[in-house]
Amino acid sequence: MGAGTSAQGRHNTKKVHIPCRRCGRSAYHIRKGVCASCGYGKTAKFREYNWAKARE
Ligand SMILES: [Zn+2]
Repeated sequence: MGAGTSAQGRHNTKKVHIPCRRCGRSAYHIRKGVCASCGYGKTAKFREYNWAKARE
């Protein structure tokens, strides 16, 4: 196998998300340094949307 098309589909083998120290979910992106769930590393406030309420 070369490094052509056969390399596709192997991009998700390494872990990119580790448990976030703020929300506890495994959504902290290592490379970006941002939690996809609570926004840790990006915003001091808790990332929250109307369609994804963490709590009422
Ligand atoms: Zn988080």
